Amino acid sequence: MQSVLTISPTTQHFLDLEDQYGAHNYHPLPVVLSRGAGVHLWDVDDKPYYDFLSGYSAVNQGHCHPVILKAFMEQAQQLTLTSRAFHNDLLGIYEEYITRYFGYDKVLPMNTGVEAVETAIKLCRKWAYEVKGMEEGKAVIIVCEGNFHGRTSTVISFSNDPAARKNFGPYMPGFKSIPYNDLAALAEALRDEHVAGFLVEPIQGEAGVFVPHDGYLAGAKQLCEAADALFIADEIQTGLARTGKMLACDHEGVRPDILLLGKALSGGMLPVSAVLCDNEIMMTIKPGEHGSTYGGNPLACRVAMASLAVLKEEKMAENAEEMGQLLRSELKALQSPYIAVVRGKGLLNAIVIDHPNKEAAWELCLELKENGLLAKPTHGDKIRFAPPLVITKEQILECVAIIKRSLLCLGGS
Ligand code: PLP
Repeated sequence: MQSVLTISPTTQHFLDLEDQYGAHNYHPLPVVLSRGAGVHLWDVDDKPYYDFLSGYSAVNQGHCHPVILKAFMEQAQQLTLTSRAFHNDLLGIYEEYITRYFGYDKVLPMNTGVEAVETAIKLCRKWAYEVKGMEEGKAVIIVCEGNFHGRTSTVISFSNDPAARKNFGPYMPGFKSIPYNDLAALAEALRDEHVAGFLVEPIQGEAGVFVPHDGYLAGAKQLCEAADALFIADEIQTGLARTGKMLACDHEGVRPDILLLGKALSGGMLPVSAVLCDNEIMMTIKPGEHGSTYGGNPLACRVAMASLAVLKEEKMAENAEEMGQLLRSELKALQSPYIAVVRGKGLLNAIVIDHPNKEAAWELCLELKENGLLAKPTHGDKIRFAPPLVITKEQILECVAIIKRSLLCLGGS
């Protein structure tokens, strides 16, 4: 049995517009969405879906969360942007709020996730030269194979995904790639006296939700400390309650030297990212040396505070932990011959499809769409299951029933 696609004329109209006038830099499922609330999305024909991607974890709090939306609307009518040429009456309040929330001396506000990564790279290098005393231009940052940290030319320079790199060179030097989840490789790489830091995703999200072994993060942090190298955690996808704790590093009691946040920092309202660290690192950047027109704008500050507040008030980390366990155990209980692996932490999960047809994961996502659940394959055979963190037990069970029914399109089970 194969998925039979239903595409309405209205949907086709929007698909055609994008196809003709937009760059072809994505390969989306053929669904056109026009409304969202909580765990649900509706398409242009008013068909409802469960959202199992959550905007790549930008919508942890659920679509159009009323508290975040209220903050957004109120601030949008008051003041949205001043630039950093002047002060605004929310930046300091936000800076105090987020640094206390995560326990750091200072924050540097940016917009997109990759800007936070770029900022961390610059901070790490500056710290190496100005605090550690390394010769300028020599700093090396260790990264992991299979990483995903964004799309700028520097960041794709240390990707090993051919699709992300091909014909975008020349590439930025100064990065050394080692296998993920391999402490021996990290220890070996840290022997180079020019290492300034280690940039790592606590769980590799884009790669297909690779969860490292217990103790990896704590061990990596210890090795970095011993080598006087900064431990930089990219929690842009794993942070903000997604994995069942406020930060994925919290599972191992690890406090990163530099913490990167983005995505759900605005609950999906606008791009807001943040770099948090202590004075020894942050104060290496002086006026005029780094910035962004929109970074720290009052709208972002207000929305970020609301987004952080609801995570705690509504105990979203706790719900992610509980619902994640339920989701994984129910998926395993399906005992589908086509699901080779079920893995994840909290509500950051993936299944790996085992099927002779290379397009099986895509086919399954099309069938899931037909049956009212939106998910997207990554790297061919993996499908991420990451619903908003407000999902209930009844909804999880309904979603697993949809998944079970959809698996029939791969040939019965
Ligand atoms: N870092 C990680 C771990 C991510 O998953 C992503 C996006 O998926 C980014 C960085 C880049 O974020 P953005 O797309 O907002 O630039």
